[in-house]
Amino acid sequence: MTQTQARVAIVGGGISGLSAAWYLQQAGVPYLLLEQSGRWGGKILTEHVDGFGQQSFVVEGGPDSFIAQKPWATELAEELGLADRLMGTNDRQRQVYVLNKGKPTPLPDGVLLIVPTKFKPFALSPLISPLGKLRMGMDLFIPPRRDDGDETLADFIRRRLGSEALDKIAEPLMSGIYNAEAERQSLLATFPRFRDLEQRHGSLTRGMIASRNARQNGSSGAQHAPNGRPKSAFITLRGGVNELVDALAASLTGDLRLNTAVERIEAAARGYVLALADGSSLPVEAVILATPAFASAELVRPLAPDAAELLAGIRYVSTGTISLAYRASEVDIPLQGFGLVIPTSERRPINAITISSTKFDHRAVDGTVLLRAFFGGSRSPQSMELDDDQLLAMALRELSELLGVDADPLFHRIFRWWHSNPQYDVGHLERVDAIEAALPAGLTVTGSAYRGVGIPDCVRQGRDAARRTAAMVQPRQSAAESVSFA
Ligand SMILES: Cc1cc2nc3c(=O)[nH]c(=O)nc-3n(C[C@H](O)[C@H](O)[C@H](O)COP(=O)(O)OP(=O)(O)OC[C@H]3O[C@@H](n4cnc5c(N)ncnc54)[C@H](O)[C@@H]3O)c2cc1C
Repeated sequence: MTQTQARVAIVGGGISGLSAAWYLQQAGVPYLLLEQSGRWGGKILTEHVDGFGQQSFVVEGGPDSFIAQKPWATELAEELGLADRLMGTNDRQRQVYVLNKGKPTPLPDGVLLIVPTKFKPFALSPLISPLGKLRMGMDLFIPPRRDDGDETLADFIRRRLGSEALDKIAEPLMSGIYNAEAERQSLLATFPRFRDLEQRHGSLTRGMIASRNARQNGSSGAQHAPNGRPKSAFITLRGGVNELVDALAASLTGDLRLNTAVERIEAAARGYVLALADGSSLPVEAVILATPAFASAELVRPLAPDAAELLAGIRYVSTGTISLAYRASEVDIPLQGFGLVIPTSERRPINAITISSTKFDHRAVDGTVLLRAFFGGSRSPQSMELDDDQLLAMALRELSELLGVDADPLFHRIFRWWHSNPQYDVGHLERVDAIEAALPAGLTVTGSAYRGVGIPDCVRQGRDAARRTAAMVQPRQSAAESVSFA
């Protein structure tokens, strides 16, 4: 058995595992962080593409930003000394388009996620038919659901706003964020605020207008909030999201091991023993599994078969992105905004296009345009099967048909993420409660499979797992007592 000073092992070096390590370090608990691949960050991956003069392209393979309303990733970045690297989106150009019968159609001004809060732009928009608009207006009169039971996002939207609002807005935008299927997606696990607004205000529309007004009253119009943070709905880092990962990896002083897969976890007299793929084993008092749920299922199966079954029941879909750069002089994109979302009903092989060079500064070299198309998931699973040449050809065809882009790209980058997106189906939160209840003491699961898929939720869950684990191992901790099994 290998010597170790660590008392806690964290398995998985994505943002959840890295965050757990950071907060264990803050609590003074010696830890090991074990990652099976040769790099930190998991689904966070930024590539800098050079060769076009002084500047680089910043190409995101996975996430390109995180939601500002959930503060945990921003707080972590600040703790790591990255406050001056944080950057918002270019909100002056924050228009989103929805593909409507093959044509990019602006989402009307004032639509907050799904709910119209400004009458005129909504009334004039061609996106929703007159009957569909009337049906959305009925939200003001439909009595709220009073119980706390879960329902699908599709059922909720149909109930309050009608099926056209579901097809044209909620499905591409709200299920799109989660790469989910609206007909299976849990409202309570993905948009609990909507049920809350419905119950508190009697209608979603009244609730959204009230929250918008509350926000506007506290808003000064400046680019930064009084606390110095970018005043934007989405935040990223100047050199890409990977800056957060790099700063974490550089600030962690524990025992960090790449290319180290954990194969088995066994119970031991004072905790657990991890069996590694290289044949060695490591004794620790507690384990935090920041691995995908299906990987965690196999690791906990011998110790907690019920938890393993529940973990294995969390579905995943595979998704991918293809980024393409163009000379600005060779393309004339008809959209003034961040990009285009595509309803499933349009039946395209891609799900959305982001104009990365409009959405953020510092993403593309001057005089160029950087685009990113999303594919896979439940909307276009067939695109995951294409090889690189077929995928590029498909993306070029889509960009030509949807945006009129016919030039040859300067370069392209493809990222495929297999079994990457956990699906929060109806009943998800009850499943997570049951998993947590079925795990033995000292064994914790954390990460995107459980209580939020976005980076801020992963940071928060990693932090909470670290704090719970620190509280468990701390009482026995003393300088002389750190574990050192031979
Ligand atoms: C294409 C795409 C775009 C996205 N866009 C956004 C966005 O814009 N904003 C946002 O907030 N979120 C976004 N997300 C979601 C977000 O990126 C993820 O939810 C988050 O990064 C997951 O982090 P994690 O640490 O929980 O898991 P992961 O990143 O999956 O990390 C888990 C790690 O565990 C390792 N591992 C697995 N098994 C073992 C083992 N046996 N031993 C050791 N290590 C193991 C894996 O190699 C991996 O590194 C996006 C996701 C994708 C795929």
